[in-house]
Amino acid sequence: MAKSSDSSMLGELTFKVRRRNFTPLIKKCYELYFGFKPPENVIFSDDDSDRRDQQWDDTNFEVGALSEPHLLTQGDLNDLVRDLDLSKKQSELLGSRLKGWNLLHKGTKVCFFRKRQDEFQDFYSQENDLVYCNDVVSLMEALGHDHDTEEWRLFIDSSKISMRAVLLHNGNKFSSVPIAHASNIKETYENMKLLLKKIEYERYGWKICSDLKVVALLRGLQLGYTKFCCFLCEWDSRDRERHYIKKIWPNRKIFTPGYKNIANLPLIDSENIYLPPLHIKLGLMKNFVKAMDRNASGFAYLKQKYSSISEAKIKEGIFVGPQIRELQQDGNFQNSLNEVEAAAWNSFRNVCKNFLGSVKVENYQDIVNDLLLTYKALGSNMSLKIHFLHSHLDFFPDNLGAVSDEHGARFHQDISSMEKRYQGKWSPAMLADYCWTLKRDLPQAKYRRKSTVTAFQ
Ligand SMILES: [Zn+2]
Repeated sequence: MAKSSDSSMLGELTFKVRRRNFTPLIKKCYELYFGFKPPENVIFSDDDSDRRDQQWDDTNFEVGALSEPHLLTQGDLNDLVRDLDLSKKQSELLGSRLKGWNLLHKGTKVCFFRKRQDEFQDFYSQENDLVYCNDVVSLMEALGHDHDTEEWRLFIDSSKISMRAVLLHNGNKFSSVPIAHASNIKETYENMKLLLKKIEYERYGWKICSDLKVVALLRGLQLGYTKFCCFLCEWDSRDRERHYIKKIWPNRKIFTPGYKNIANLPLIDSENIYLPPLHIKLGLMKNFVKAMDRNASGFAYLKQKYSSISEAKIKEGIFVGPQIRELQQDGNFQNSLNEVEAAAWNSFRNVCKNFLGSVKVENYQDIVNDLLLTYKALGSNMSLKIHFLHSHLDFFPDNLGAVSDEHGARFHQDISSMEKRYQGKWSPAMLADYCWTLKRDLPQAKYRRKSTVTAFQ
């Protein structure tokens, strides 16, 4: 709710999901809409305000002289609708109200919104349950991007019932662009092959960032807890005696189905894979918690702090990004740990901050080594993720921060809200409409919405 009583009307009328910081642009619209200036001290204080602050940076927007109303051009109105994240119906409502007050420029069309997806619809095709982009170069052009395959990476996300592919900008400067979505499709090798074929992967050859399950599918490996689960080498995950000891294993050179957990021919080269930093961070957290002393104060503190999470989940170490960040800043948690746990926790924090995050320090090898030593001392089993840190540190790209998969997580949130809007009916029209919301009509406008990385929920 709004804190100021003056603004209670706004607070009451605004659904939480629609609340926004009161930016200069919105102030201006408020004045045009209500005919008087908004209260000066209005503050919107929903839980998400930090995130909103990041997304809504209108501080440089020049309001200009308000003595004469500025009539909104089609471009003004379109970008406003995008900034407010309005559906087609809401856009039409806002447009017709503004029109009723003669605040629209001659030629600004309100009915335009009903077919706003038309501009992008031809870029998408559908085959059974798979909707895909049939011309990535033209789509990117229409969105105002020069499509350079070196500047974008492909993020593939899959679950038991759906798959989606999105282009993410390296450096995360631009919004992510959806290029395929399949619902009611299982994550299998055959379906992955079809998806890559439809989006013409061979033609573009983007680097791929995905979780390790998708990577395994792409490299033709069997899924599940298999003995040879590394796509780069013949590491024997069951040879516990040699975990943390034997670093170099033979590289994978044989890709015959049936050989060391190979099930199919690889679909992409291993050089085209980015190991996903966020995914590895979540895995390291899991390993840490699983190895904690269940009868000691550290584990008790976790149970008490996250009393709403089931004990089974805590025991499995299933935590999400924001919870991990919260714990990393929690001095009481740190103090509740025993010596071995505290050493491992510190090295985990260090790796997150100086290697897996946006910064990769020069002595990252020492930092990672320290993690391996302290995790070993803690008695943590070596997971596939720890194996990557142990044996394939040189496989992590130099620009790790720029290709962080947190951006993919943000897209995941964006697309979930779109999914709600379309009630799960994925179609070329829906993806086209989503693309319309990504475009800017006034690219030079100073109030351009920033594409910032937000927290992984
Ligand atoms: Zn390996």
